[in-house]
Amino acid sequence: MLIPNAPTPRALRSISPSLYEALLSCPARAAWYATGTRGAVAPHPSALLAISFHGVMEALQKGRITGTDEECRLGARSLFDGLAARIHTEAHPLIKVKFPSPQKLPYYNLLRERSAALAADYSRSGERQEAGRAVAEGRFESSDGVIVGRPDMVDVGRAVVVDYKTGQAAKDGWRVSEREARQLSLYVYLAAEAGITATRGMIVRGNGDTARIDISKDTANAEAERARKVLAEFNASIDGGSTFYGFARPSADACRMCPCIPLCERFWEAADPSWSDECGIHLEGTVTAARPASVQGTALLTVEVDASRGTIRKCEATIEQIPAAWVVADGDRAPEAGDTVRLVDARLVSEDPTVIRADRVTTSLWRVGGET
Ligand code: SF4
Repeated sequence: MLIPNAPTPRALRSISPSLYEALLSCPARAAWYATGTRGAVAPHPSALLAISFHGVMEALQKGRITGTDEECRLGARSLFDGLAARIHTEAHPLIKVKFPSPQKLPYYNLLRERSAALAADYSRSGERQEAGRAVAEGRFESSDGVIVGRPDMVDVGRAVVVDYKTGQAAKDGWRVSEREARQLSLYVYLAAEAGITATRGMIVRGNGDTARIDISKDTANAEAERARKVLAEFNASIDGGSTFYGFARPSADACRMCPCIPLCERFWEAADPSWSDECGIHLEGTVTAARPASVQGTALLTVEVDASRGTIRKCEATIEQIPAAWVVADGDRAPEAGDTVRLVDARLVSEDPTVIRADRVTTSLWRVGGET
């Protein structure tokens, strides 16, 4: 696959909790989210199903899923399936090669059933009407239009904003992380802007665990002001010569799971082996040999690489038996001797000799420039 071009940063009109987090850690990542070519890199598969899950939550809030427990379960499953099918159709070709149908995406049934169970719970809560009124627009916006966000639920009766997490739990899953607290504070602020009083935030994790915090009006207002300031600083730094790389702030923490790793030159300049635990296994190198093979009818490619940058030491590395279909998913040719390649989010099997294997969920192999 060929590495896509980096976007040109431009001033942003509004800031959401996810954009806020990206601006705090690495403004280049925020620029990618805001202006990058949609679908140019394959997202983590869980991000695709999270869209389906949150779509079901939004439909509940808007009263589009109603009826008995069982009717709500059926409605939630049907909507989840429909959203996942649409998202899968539009997904990056690598996703479709790895997971030929949406049902093959990791944790499909788990998230589908969780959305169905929440729909049934919601139907019993008796608070749909009130909560539905609270989030009728789905998307909240501050009166000046600068702060925007989509809380999964505003429980008006309990004065709490709720966010459902579909991905991995934070390290201390029983408590709200700093990042989650910022997000919930912005939601409390947005609820207040819409005339709804909320005083607490709650995170519901993928395993059903919950974590809560109190959020005062002052705290919510202060977070909103800070978000405005971060956005204003970013916009003030944009000029005619701004480049994606000029905004990059590489670090093991900021770059962890960043979709820009394949294309981000600043990442490759800064990364070193001490990042591997936190940020994963990524390497750039020159191909010295590419050997095709076939195992049980599946075409595979073993690639020998003179690795020079990334989160492993400089060495001669073997990338073992990566499915050939993955490396040509976007229509590019397979790597050959002399090509520069970047392997992203793989698994280190041994260090001496250095052997690396592809992970079905996360790994991608990219070719840097050159002729097709
Ligand atoms: S890879 Fe790192 S430096 Fe580059 S955009 Fe992502 S977070 Fe920023």
